[in-house]
Amino acid sequence: MTERNSEKALPCIVCKGELDNIDPRGNQPSGGLEFTTHGHYGSTIFDPMGGSVFLCVNICDGCVSDAAKDGAVLFGEMPPPAPRNRILRPWDGEEDGTA
Ligand SMILES: [Zn+2]
Repeated sequence: MTERNSEKALPCIVCKGELDNIDPRGNQPSGGLEFTTHGHYGSTIFDPMGGSVFLCVNICDGCVSDAAKDGAVLFGEMPPPAPRNRILRPWDGEEDGTA
């Protein structure tokens, strides 16, 4: 496998605009965002069914902003991770955790 080494990040896949690379050893676009996907059920071109491979693309800030204004961007938030340690206390015989 060949590693990237470029002063330019991948171009924006929407407008094809060039993006400077903050980290020439990788893909760190200045003025843009990097998106990765490990595949998706329903894709007819990339769904490797597990493993550690992924695809990577860049979209410039202007194109993301325009898409957001058009309602084409979702904002996600991951729930906090479950506590690593159980919390144990005496049970009063009635509490069911719904109060
Ligand atoms: Zn763009």
